[in-house]
Amino acid sequence: MGKREPVIATLGSHSALQILKGAKDENFPTLVIAPEDKKDFYKRFRFIDEIISIPNYLDFPKIEKLLFKKNVILIPHGSFVAYLGLEENKKMRIPYFGNREVLDYESDRQKQREWLIKSDINVPLQFRGVADINYPVIVKSYGAAGGKGYFYAKNKRDFQKKIGALKDRNFIIQEYVIGVTLYIHYFYSLLTNKLEILSMDRRYETNVDSLGRIPLTHQEQLNIEPSYVVVGNSPLVLRESLLPEAFAMGERVVEKSKQLIGGKGLYGPFCLETVITPDQKFYVIEISCRIVAGTNLFMDGSPYSSLIYNEPMSTGRRIAREIKLALKENKLEQVLN
Ligand code: AMP
Ligand code: AMP
Repeated sequence: MGKREPVIATLGSHSALQILKGAKDENFPTLVIAPEDKKDFYKRFRFIDEIISIPNYLDFPKIEKLLFKKNVILIPHGSFVAYLGLEENKKMRIPYFGNREVLDYESDRQKQREWLIKSDINVPLQFRGVADINYPVIVKSYGAAGGKGYFYAKNKRDFQKKIGALKDRNFIIQEYVIGVTLYIHYFYSLLTNKLEILSMDRRYETNVDSLGRIPLTHQEQLNIEPSYVVVGNSPLVLRESLLPEAFAMGERVVEKSKQLIGGKGLYGPFCLETVITPDQKFYVIEISCRIVAGTNLFMDGSPYSSLIYNEPMSTGRRIAREIKLALKENKLEQVLN
């Protein structure tokens, strides 16, 4: 990377607004790469200095040379793997905030599970096949799809009835954990070696989060199946007595990643997606190794970020702050991949 000031760039979707607003708050030039039909949308925002439009998200790797010329640092988010796929992501050579090796874990639920178990984290039971299903289960396809295509089955028979309709052949069968869902947004800094909790959210999913609005007797007549498609997020603060374990879980996965994952392990933003049961145990249903969209709630900071920073600190801004700090200490190579 040359001496010119880097430009912070990302793909126009998911958490792009937060990332670029945060970059501008840290005084970086900003760039969004967006499909033609989203150009006018991104033009609305003053903190975006430049828009490059492409015909389709899939055309993104084709402009890599141009991005090199512009001295771009790319900030990945949930759309990178969802729209471009794992291999395309790993092929790109543009300086990237985060460890690309971690993507193998982002896209493989089995690998994720082993990492979590080795980090001494509770995970829901998993079933190998229909024969051993003896609880209600949730069946999930692979990859970040915002809950799309998942289904709930109350027993073996129900599972057999529904599995035929699942298009993806890569799926897992998990015990359905009944409790409060909570997504914890962490940031681990390689420069300070500290783990921060910046915020937390709950997802709002259709229609599972709205079933309770219809009385049970009416639900019975409607024959509704729960679905888990995310439409938005809402905030939640955690009982203070559960916070120490929230920090400890984050620290354990970071520590284990240094042994399991190549390069520098997991760093930057990540999220543990948990369900908390009545005995106050966290069950981790997934780990996202990048910024999650629930952080969009906290573009102006959260109760947790205010415990660390005396200024509004979103996850997007925290990423830019880390890059700024690395530039100042001449350690940019350390935080990029
Ligand atoms: P979008 O920008 O809405 O096209 O979303 C890009 C990808 O991120 C898709 O795979 C979505 O399912 C996922 N995604 C978007 N928003 C959220 C959210 N609030 N929570 C979880 N996943 C999301
Ligand atoms: P995920 O894509 O793994 O984050 O899951 C999306 C949504 O599915 C979650 O927000 C929950 O509503 C639901 N879910 C996933 N796994 C489980 C589980 N093991 N038990 C109960 N609900 C789950």
